Amino acid sequence: MVISDATFKSVAAALCPWGAGYDSTRRALGERGLDRCWELADGYGRCSLGDLRSRGLTRDWSHVRDSSDEALARIVGYLKRRGVLACGTCAGSGAVRPHPTALVAVDCPDCGR
Ligand SMILES: [Zn+2]
Repeated sequence: MVISDATFKSVAAALCPWGAGYDSTRRALGERGLDRCWELADGYGRCSLGDLRSRGLTRDWSHVRDSSDEALARIVGYLKRRGVLACGTCAGSGAVRPHPTALVAVDCPDCGR
């Protein structure tokens, strides 16, 4: 799955510390959920949380921004499961219950959008 520009913008809004949705993402996921997103990223290579902490990268946006498509797909999947990003089609089907502040992602492996 290749991440589209629109979906990347949704990830940036949700996870970039100066992104429009970062505060609501932090409320929805908590610090541990944000840590998990950074663990799934691979901009500086795959890193354990301990590695990220010791290198001061736990909220370094470059680590997410420069991730491979595969890592971004993992992050999008995680954010969708946790209701931070939502596909309008899947949410309408009742298959997922998006967070009230969910941002809409347009690449959806579940329904093919
Ligand atoms: Zn969908």
